[in-house]
Amino acid sequence: MEMLCDIKSMTKAELTEDFKRLGFPKFRADQVYGWLHKGVETFDEMTNISKDMRSVLLQNYYICNVTIEKKLVSAYDGTVKYLYRLHDGEYIESVLMKYHHGYTVCISTQAGCRMGCKFCATGMGGLARNLTPSEMLSQITTAQRDNGIRISNIVLMGMGEPLDNFDNVMRFLELVSDTDGVGIGMRHISVSTCGVVDKIYQLIPMKPQFTLSVSLHAPNDRLRGEIMPINNKWNVETLLEACRKYADATHRRISFEYSLIKDKNDTAECAKELAGRLKGMLCHVNLIPVNTVKGNSYERSSQAQIERFIKILESSGITATVRRTLGADINASCGQLRRKKKEESDGNIQQN
Ligand code: SAH
Ligand code: SF4
Repeated sequence: MEMLCDIKSMTKAELTEDFKRLGFPKFRADQVYGWLHKGVETFDEMTNISKDMRSVLLQNYYICNVTIEKKLVSAYDGTVKYLYRLHDGEYIESVLMKYHHGYTVCISTQAGCRMGCKFCATGMGGLARNLTPSEMLSQITTAQRDNGIRISNIVLMGMGEPLDNFDNVMRFLELVSDTDGVGIGMRHISVSTCGVVDKIYQLIPMKPQFTLSVSLHAPNDRLRGEIMPINNKWNVETLLEACRKYADATHRRISFEYSLIKDKNDTAECAKELAGRLKGMLCHVNLIPVNTVKGNSYERSSQAQIERFIKILESSGITATVRRTLGADINASCGQLRRKKKEESDGNIQQN
């Protein structure tokens, strides 16, 4: 039996080429591509495509969808958290947030993650597998359809390390920014990395127009090495050198993520050291009070400590903001729902 092809991971040019081989005119590729990117889940929903053609499509392709397994809506701010089920039984999470300028969705790029950051719920379970471009796209179209909205911004800050799934993520970015599809421009997309330095160098000549977020979380190797294993492969200086080159080449401001952990990386000394290391770089610092996660003992910093930290950065000329916590009542930070689901199903297997 011939393998069916993941049609939603194909670019419009690839689809057009494929359709030519199947004997369909170009406008059919335009129509089908349009439907797919509106988020239809079956070929039968493509009402301007004949029955005969739909059956040819079924013989050659499948439409990859994510299914809503669970949906939590915050009573505070309307933030929606989705637990999606994938075709092979894996689970991933997405979060939809409403800001004054529109809707932002935070999507996953992998089921799990192999980077093992100590403060992260996703990292604790290891990597199950990479997501396909179509699975990333479906997180967006499903949230749009489910809420009857258009999403204007995307952040790749859900489960997984985007640069550890490089080719699929690049293809997804090409698809989602295509004006014939969802049409979210690169300038409205952020890609977050824990610091996969060789991939940052791979990005530089591509001159990406998305925002690169780098999860720094500590100003020195002693602290960063303790909470982020990747630091033992590429240390702070190596990472920051790559970031400087990236900013110089792309003229794009890098956004450094810094999760404040009580009595660990939130001291005045840390703030000063951080300011010193970032001096002169085109960048911005995003401070996030760490989310408490079952399985570690990290606590969030006090408000006073957060304010002291930001003052020190600002007095050194580093722009910084404290990220507003959305969806506090629904555990909006990623990895926790999937873990719970996994524990439940592992429990079931033991009972059987
Ligand atoms: N793997 C990528 C993107 C996904 S994680 C990365 O690490 O950048 C998205 C962001 O959430 C990262 O900045 C990560 O460090 C942060 N994060 C993970 N667990 C967290 C927690 N418990 N509290 C606060 N931030 C957390
Ligand atoms: Fe992976 Fe990012 Fe979590 Fe680290 S913080 S384990 S890189 S998802």
